Amino acid sequence: MEDTITTAVPSPIPVLGFPKNLMPIGGAWVPAASGGRITVLNPATEEPIAQVPDGTIGDGLAALDAAAAAQSSWAGTPARERADILAATYRGIIERRDEFAALIVAEMGKPWPEAQAEVDYGAGFFRWFAESTNRLHLEGQYGLEPGGQYRIAVSKRPVGPSLLITPWNFPLAMGARKIAPALAAGCTTILKPAELTPLTSLLLARVMEEAGVPAGVVNVITTNNSPEVVAAIMADPRSRKVSFTGSTQVGRVLLTQAAQNIMNTSMELGGNAPLIVFDDADLETAVEGAMVAKLRNGGQSCIGANRVYVQNGIAAEFTRRFTEKMAAVKIGNGTEPDTELGPLVDTKQVLKVASLVEDAVANGARCLTGGHRPGGTGYFYPPTVLTNIPANAQIRTEEIFGPVAAIYAFETENEAITEANNTPYGLASYIFTKDLARALRVADAIDAGMTGINRGVVSNPAAPFGGTKASGLGREGGTEGLEAYQETKYTGIQL
Ligand code: NAD
Repeated sequence: MEDTITTAVPSPIPVLGFPKNLMPIGGAWVPAASGGRITVLNPATEEPIAQVPDGTIGDGLAALDAAAAAQSSWAGTPARERADILAATYRGIIERRDEFAALIVAEMGKPWPEAQAEVDYGAGFFRWFAESTNRLHLEGQYGLEPGGQYRIAVSKRPVGPSLLITPWNFPLAMGARKIAPALAAGCTTILKPAELTPLTSLLLARVMEEAGVPAGVVNVITTNNSPEVVAAIMADPRSRKVSFTGSTQVGRVLLTQAAQNIMNTSMELGGNAPLIVFDDADLETAVEGAMVAKLRNGGQSCIGANRVYVQNGIAAEFTRRFTEKMAAVKIGNGTEPDTELGPLVDTKQVLKVASLVEDAVANGARCLTGGHRPGGTGYFYPPTVLTNIPANAQIRTEEIFGPVAAIYAFETENEAITEANNTPYGLASYIFTKDLARALRVADAIDAGMTGINRGVVSNPAAPFGGTKASGLGREGGTEGLEAYQETKYTGIQL
């Protein structure tokens, strides 16, 4: 069932399949203590969709009380029972795929097929970690220490109540990628979604309740005051883990705060992915790969191709074909059937993307398509291609987070590697070539957590997602994603 993309598009007003104006804390759906609310807007129409509680510091601490109270019984729940709940969550999400996708389109703006693909990807974390959970209690070591005097036993245990903070660009998948492994490992959770896109997280919490998650194991706090609410939760020594996806700037703040209580941290931060096309690449594959890696989620993706490096022999033809495709992309509301590119998430994002393009062009870059904001309603920005980008343009170093491709020509393999690594970030990278030895050599030489070879999509629940340098600490998904929520316990045994 999960492989079928529904062709019918949703109504512009999504169904809210969870209690309105409330958030789930300790098994009850409650308003903010202050009575305050946040209005969620549709970025394609700029119209309000719904309201959610504007949670206070007190609400955040109530969520921590609930998570701390539920911790030992959840950790003591047999792994198979936890796995069954995760598997039921997977089925619950897939059964309500259209409802989730409609919410994602409404609050985030991505086109309908992309929203459905995100639902499948997000649900996939529950399936993957349900499968891993059953084996959990069988893992460990038992043996004689090298001197032959006593036994060493090593086992895993949950790290404890976990605070999970997510960005707006993948409203379901970013939460799923944290909640599923946390619950698999036996940790209780407080999810703090981005204030722009809280609705999908509330539906996920509802589906998890229906799947049998006990009270207090998944709490959601929606708030417009993230800095203070998060700081208060992190200052409490009962918080044992913070897993954050978002900007490097906020990641630094959280690492500093985590230092006070020596909290376990996972940080999925910003990116500046290079995409390298060698002369011997299959041109069609490279153009398609670059389109996907650039336009996924309208370019608002931490693994979006930020810098496209094309070898001189193929540069003109690649640029011509790629620009042709970018110029033909259909922009519109995600609810329209043929939309390929939705709006950006808000005005701030549009202004940031527009200013990077204007700065590059003012300094001498050539704009081959796009480059101007359309008038009218909605936070739209057109697919844009820039070449001849000068050394002083900001776009060379900043994360674009929009549908703008910056193309650079290069001559030698070493030059491409040096340029690719010339960034404080190290999240994703992409290489297009038919020469396998070169592909592996260049992949090894690029300092990034992930490399796609001849493909523009690398995310997979079974693979470790994450970055090096300023792109973060730790991995999500794969086996590493579960270890992120575990402590190692060693027992020395004298028989
Ligand atoms: P952001 O850092 O502004 O916000 C992310 C989350 O942190 C939101 O929930 C926000 O409310 C919260 N937040 C903001 N300030 C906070 C503070 N002082 N204390 C606690 N919480 C705070 O990022 P964004 O604009 O929502 O997302 C875009 C960024 O996220 C980009 O840089 C992108 O590369 C990155 N990102 C990374 C990954 C990854 O896996 N590495 C995935 C998606 C997005």
